[in-house]
Amino acid sequence: MSAPLIVLLPGDGIGPEIVAAARRLLEALGEFEFTEHPMGGCSIDAHGTALTEEVLAACRAADAVLLGAVGGPKWDTTDPDAPRPEQGLLGLRKGMGLYANLRPVRPSPALVGASPLRPDVIAGTDLLVVRELTGGIYFGESGRDGDVAHDTCEYSAAEVERIARVGFEAAQRRAAGADRKPRVTSVDKANVLETSRLWREVVGRVAPEYPDVELDHLLVDNAAMQLVSRPADFDVIVTENLFGDILSDESAMLTGSLGMLPSASLGAEGEPGLFEPVHGSAPDIAGQGVANPLATFLSAAMMLRHGLDRADDAARVEAAVDTVLESGLRTPDLSAAGESTVGTGEVTDAVLAAL
Ligand code: NAD
Repeated sequence: MSAPLIVLLPGDGIGPEIVAAARRLLEALGEFEFTEHPMGGCSIDAHGTALTEEVLAACRAADAVLLGAVGGPKWDTTDPDAPRPEQGLLGLRKGMGLYANLRPVRPSPALVGASPLRPDVIAGTDLLVVRELTGGIYFGESGRDGDVAHDTCEYSAAEVERIARVGFEAAQRRAAGADRKPRVTSVDKANVLETSRLWREVVGRVAPEYPDVELDHLLVDNAAMQLVSRPADFDVIVTENLFGDILSDESAMLTGSLGMLPSASLGAEGEPGLFEPVHGSAPDIAGQGVANPLATFLSAAMMLRHGLDRADDAARVEAAVDTVLESGLRTPDLSAAGESTVGTGEVTDAVLAAL
């Protein structure tokens, strides 16, 4: 069997530094074939557009895509006709049919102190937000008539069903081998919205196919509250696009460390997924060799698990990251005042050694 083909999209700012570090990590784990392409601001500079047809085609033909981050002040503009780096991200989501966004939140035991929540509230948190990414109000008809504007939220049963399955299957995968029952919390606003009533109905209809998974439903306002009052009680949260956008950022902040959070965007079975850290291109520290590569390493772990069917390697990466944090090694973004810090290269060396 030939080595899996990974497309690397380093992007802008610290993107090239953290993706180069992730490449070292992957090379230490096994045989992969890599190709690297410009996307985002660097592609605007080279080709006048954030995502060329060639790069999209390369991504679609790969086994998985690992992205750094895009954007920076150089490309900030108020000209509505000027190309913008984030158009590359939207183009990838659409062009690769990425309808499911997965964001795990698992504060490393060594970093519970970084959370804005009390250590006893955050302790034991290990949840996954599954957000529907290509439907709902972000993609419905919208318009303005004088002083009146509207945005339409629309979901089909088929769209709800496929994202519900992603949620149930993720819950099963997460609980495999562990001594606990998998649980899915479906979040909607079924007391008000018709799309939410369809959502709840369809999720309930799919649930019996996963008899080992416990299902409960929460209204989104209640879910937002419970996420900060008892985060450790959640397993998998599955929700629509707008609610997921808000709840995934809320849950991201539970850890307090942006440089630690990975994400995955998945499309149809057998199609390549896109894996990237949640943080941006950090232009303020680009080129200094101090970027925290751990969110990109954890994104690479998600790629190994969800994109390349190598769950054992994924677990090795996650354990190595924990080991390094427990040893006290910190990039500046994770350090408390007065603590000594290390750069991207040293953290990468330490993770490779801990593998
Ligand atoms: P940001 O996430 O880039 O940075 C916020 C703060 O966190 C900065 O102080 C930065 O130095 C720090 N930081 C972020 N990641 C870090 C890491 N790995 N190691 C150490 N420190 C880290 O957010 P921002 O400043 O709002 O945005 C900067 C640029 O990134 C903008 O152009 C924005 O549009 C873009 N952006 C891109 C993505 C993406 O590519 N997915 C996501 C968010 C923002």
